[in-house]
Amino acid sequence: MTNPFLSPWTTAFDIPPFADISDADFKPAFEAGLAEGRAGIKAIAENPDAPTFENTIEAMETCEELLSKVLGVFYGIAGADSNDVREGLQRDFGPILADYSSEITANTALFERVDALWQARDTLDLTDEQMRVLMLTRRSFVRSGAQLEGDDIARMAKIKSRLSTLGTTFSQNLLGDESAWFMELTEADLEGLPEFVVDAMRASGASKDLSGPCLTTSRSLFVPFLQFSPRRDLREAVFHAWKSRGSRGGETDNRDNAAEILKLREERAKLLGYESFATFKLETEMAKTPQAVRDLLMQVWEPAKTAAEKDGAILEEMLHADGYTGPLEAWDWRYYSEKRRKIEHDLDEAELKPYLQLDRMIEAAFACATRLFNLEFEPLDATLYHEDVRGWNVTRDGEHLAVFIGDYFARASKRSGAWCTAMRSQKKLGGDTKPIVLNVCNFAKATGDKPNLLSYDDARTLFHEFGHALHQMLSNVTFESISGTSVARDFVELPSQLYEHWLEVPEVLEEFATHADTGEAMPADMLKRLLDAQTYDQGYTTVGYVASALTDLNFHDGDAPADPMQSQAQTLDQLGMPKATTMFHEAPHFQHVFAGDGYSCGYYSYMWSEVMDADAFDAFKEAGAFDAGTAARLEEHILSAGGSADPEVLYTAFRGRMPGPEAMLKGRGLA
Ligand SMILES: [Zn+2]
Repeated sequence: MTNPFLSPWTTAFDIPPFADISDADFKPAFEAGLAEGRAGIKAIAENPDAPTFENTIEAMETCEELLSKVLGVFYGIAGADSNDVREGLQRDFGPILADYSSEITANTALFERVDALWQARDTLDLTDEQMRVLMLTRRSFVRSGAQLEGDDIARMAKIKSRLSTLGTTFSQNLLGDESAWFMELTEADLEGLPEFVVDAMRASGASKDLSGPCLTTSRSLFVPFLQFSPRRDLREAVFHAWKSRGSRGGETDNRDNAAEILKLREERAKLLGYESFATFKLETEMAKTPQAVRDLLMQVWEPAKTAAEKDGAILEEMLHADGYTGPLEAWDWRYYSEKRRKIEHDLDEAELKPYLQLDRMIEAAFACATRLFNLEFEPLDATLYHEDVRGWNVTRDGEHLAVFIGDYFARASKRSGAWCTAMRSQKKLGGDTKPIVLNVCNFAKATGDKPNLLSYDDARTLFHEFGHALHQMLSNVTFESISGTSVARDFVELPSQLYEHWLEVPEVLEEFATHADTGEAMPADMLKRLLDAQTYDQGYTTVGYVASALTDLNFHDGDAPADPMQSQAQTLDQLGMPKATTMFHEAPHFQHVFAGDGYSCGYYSYMWSEVMDADAFDAFKEAGAFDAGTAARLEEHILSAGGSADPEVLYTAFRGRMPGPEAMLKGRGLA
């Protein structure tokens, strides 16, 4: 049989013919795609004609069509439904793709053409979108070192390779420390723990061939144990084990690795002409400068600290009422906070769950998109990559706009977490291409014919990922490289976090949160308690987050610290951490910062996005949750615009101004 990737598809909406694709097809198609891409790049670089936007930038945008066709399908499936073959292919493809992209950025002749266009940009009569793509293309060359000369070229290559090794070592050390520590528990140690925690600890014990339950520093055990266990001695022990990951001495100690990573990042930034790694890294973000990040975090810090101090005093009284003397400790916070939550916001998960049916929540997400953007969703009768996966034809005014694929249930072949990915991105260059967008979640599948029920967090995740999907589906740009979610990291969570707010619009839950057995709407009192509970204990959460984000910023702003632990201690000291609060991540286990480059000097971006989503939703609060004009502005300036303009320009066009932190602080109950 011929390789389906190498011939045109005849399916409805050009959906990948999943039934015809076998795992053996990926590698030859991948290799053919690479060969096509290489030939295309070579032809552009060696074109004897003078560079034009069409023969250089547009040609680069379209010379990898086969590669992106194969990779879109492959990575879509590999994350959601893996097997040994697909895992092996993922390991093989990673380094090959990294080499391929370094090959392109190291192509001097190609860079010279791009740079010549950039120098002549004002005479080229480009549209705004073309100008933006030219700028982004050239910038990625420059940031990879295309303008380096002499010994600096080899030094840069050495730094990148060493950083990649150190990042991997950092993660593996952490994994080593995480699997090395565990504590066997007796039946008596299980007092107070809910059934799901005990079950998870028994499963963890069984996986280690122990006869009884076992506690580890895995987040899914560690957090609920601190929350529910009355055993202060055990809480303290697991807390210390969690805190010491990556700094226990010996071979898996990450402290020297962290120092070397910071030093090399600084050198890399300076080779490229930047004053620090922070200025290098933030240049391409919406925040742009270290000062902008610092200003945001410090605006949040004071109110969060005040709230955490107030809460800490209440929790300390509860500790003393239990007969303990002395201060509230870090391992006490979650336990007493959980006790207090039960008193103040009594909300029984078991009572809530029947009201949150998966299918009704999907309907709710769709219904909001219908009211806001006039989208219609019609179930597709197509064979997808797994029997649990469902597809919809998304239309507007009768016209096909996108294919939406929902893959909601957990299974062994799926990696954990939830995400949105485009199997095919929207673009207009080289023919109008409509996107295929995938939402993947890990919700528990009910057995038999029982209805599938979600927790409130699950429902929020569903809305979150659907917000990313709208960013892809409503995309309306010419170039694939700026399509949909191809935007700055600190901007990409705006559409998704914003969409979560519609779940909080009371009329949405009133209509769609109906009881699985009785069909009755959620009682008003339960709805109110549910919405009120969302701001609980935000002082503690915010303090832990901001302290970590500022530590990350300080690591990279200015000269690299010789001793990251000392730099971290200094940051905490200057902030004045409230008693018994802790950072989310300390340096020796701060994966966002050290396991790779993705979130280095970028941990702030979660809050940056939250400031925007809260401020953006305020526009809807002011005009009405489904106000047509506001929705149209959101689509025009943000959801359809992809990376076609600077995020600041896009946001300001939508809102009339830049966001301030007031709405976010109010949303967290910190105003
Ligand atoms: Zn997201």
